[in-house]
Amino acid sequence: MKASQFFISTLKEAPADAEVVSHKLMMRAGLIKKLGAGIYNYMPMGLRVIRKVEAIVREEMNRAGAVECAMPVVQPAELWQETGRFEKMGPELLRIKDRHDRDFVIQPTSEEVVTDIARQELRSYKQLPKNLYQIQTKFRDERRPRFGLMRGREFIMKDAYSFDRDMVSAKASYQVMAAAYRRIFDRFGLRYRAVAADSGAIGGDLSEEFQVIAATGEDAIVYCPQSDYAANMEKAEALAPVQPRPAAAQAMTKTPTPGKATCADVAQLLGVPLSTTVKSLVLATDTLNDAGDIVGSQVWLLLLRGDHDMNEIKVSKVPGLDKGFRFATLAEIEDHFGCKPGYLGPVGLKKPVKVIADREVAVMADWICGANEVDYHITGVNWARDLAEPDAVADLRNVVAGDKSPDGAGELAIERGIEVGHVFYLGTKYSKAMNATFLGEDGKPAFFEMGCYGIGITRLPAAAIEQNHDERGIIWPDAIAPFTVVVCPVGMDRSDAVKATAEQLYADLLAAGIDVILDDRGERPGAMFADWELIGVPHRVTIGDKSLKDGVVEYQHRRDAAATKVAVGDIATYVR
Ligand code: ATP
Ligand code: MG
Ligand code: MG
Ligand code: MG
Repeated sequence: MKASQFFISTLKEAPADAEVVSHKLMMRAGLIKKLGAGIYNYMPMGLRVIRKVEAIVREEMNRAGAVECAMPVVQPAELWQETGRFEKMGPELLRIKDRHDRDFVIQPTSEEVVTDIARQELRSYKQLPKNLYQIQTKFRDERRPRFGLMRGREFIMKDAYSFDRDMVSAKASYQVMAAAYRRIFDRFGLRYRAVAADSGAIGGDLSEEFQVIAATGEDAIVYCPQSDYAANMEKAEALAPVQPRPAAAQAMTKTPTPGKATCADVAQLLGVPLSTTVKSLVLATDTLNDAGDIVGSQVWLLLLRGDHDMNEIKVSKVPGLDKGFRFATLAEIEDHFGCKPGYLGPVGLKKPVKVIADREVAVMADWICGANEVDYHITGVNWARDLAEPDAVADLRNVVAGDKSPDGAGELAIERGIEVGHVFYLGTKYSKAMNATFLGEDGKPAFFEMGCYGIGITRLPAAAIEQNHDERGIIWPDAIAPFTVVVCPVGMDRSDAVKATAEQLYADLLAAGIDVILDDRGERPGAMFADWELIGVPHRVTIGDKSLKDGVVEYQHRRDAAATKVAVGDIATYVR
């Protein structure tokens, strides 16, 4: 590719709405262009990265025996009504109508359609197992699209679905995919962890997320450096033993002051800006005696999962409740407060409630908090703040760094991750709902045992940038760089030798199958280098008159502090 023919549009400044470095750099490097909230043009430079991600995923999926197909982006609602997801899924599912007033959805994922294919096409156990996958546009009307491609509304996902004759075989298919995912993420050259994830009621232990390690990640992951233990926070919390609550008043560093609170008050209490996303908060009611001892407590761990805006936590005062110390399940809370689960926080409280770990907390008493829904507020709760980690309000949890790991191998550590892939054993959830059967060896119909496996194709480049950048721009791993090598001739218009060498080298590298771009735009060296450093092409060859006289060109890896002089003929060995 020649730069003069390609489409390059770099920016000096990132747009104001870009908060994280990957979003900023993707915008500045001209990889993507915003069209609407969570909706982006993949510009030519960005599309090359996406295509490389897809190619690796495709290769490994094929190697693992999966078969590619493509399912419609626009899908008739009937199938979604069969599983009940058309009604159940909530506003993340984009529903549209055609001219005949028929309902459709834009696929956020494709279990229904692929199960419909299976029930028509896979009639006998002899055709199993099968794994169908697609690399396809998805739409999820995310409550808070942000961070560019990281959490878009329209994005590309690789989604695969396995069909097996029984559970044993389905679990084997799952393991094949889990292994393929490891190969895939190894090839991207990123630091990642496969962590156990919650599979709800269905899957037992068969759900893992692939998390790229990054401080800006929206997920917290828990692992043990001394062993293989790794889980996402939700899973870790589900398994953690309930911790005893601090008995005495020394845990209370603030006298609870009942009063009317605004969002701003709560934000101030938590020591965070008003627009902070809080993923989980501990809420507690404590009854204190005059000495400040806790004589009765009711403690809720309210998980505000997903994206929750502090602006939208509505808080006001109500008379306190004195229920005495106990643990409660969701059902009990629902019972007690008459709240529907959906109103306990933005996405509902799905787990049994547990008590905060044995640590200091600051508590404010007797709030009514909610629920963003009139008449569905939780009353008499306290806002608690973890004093051990004042900056980590978003991670106020039952499981904390330093806890003993469940396998006893050592202490737990916590780091943040970006979910780039997810493998999930589904069992017969969809096949039963859609009456999808095949004829078994005994001649009787049986429901397919299924699994589903996703990779965020367009999220991956963003995750890669979070891990690989410096103050000048992106540093792509070779595997997914838009170009592997850029040839930068200096003074091409003035020197025939430079021009000829650049063109020869470009031709040689192309012939050697190396993905090279020749910068023949005639930019000044400073501007030219700045562009390629921003775009993040990992290998650069600079050709100038002076060094050519010595028979050399300059090679510099994007991470190198200085260039190395290399004989023209040796360049190919440097850029592989
Ligand atoms: P998240 O927890 O980030 O919302 P998810 O668990 O809802 O993701 P899955 O349904 O497991 O996502 O989808 C498979 C993969 O698709 C995810 O692992 C992620 O990499 C990607 N993905 C999901 N939502 C988005 C999005 N809004 N933008 C970009 N990629 C996404
Ligand atoms: Mg999601
Ligand atoms: Mg997730
Ligand atoms: Mg997931």
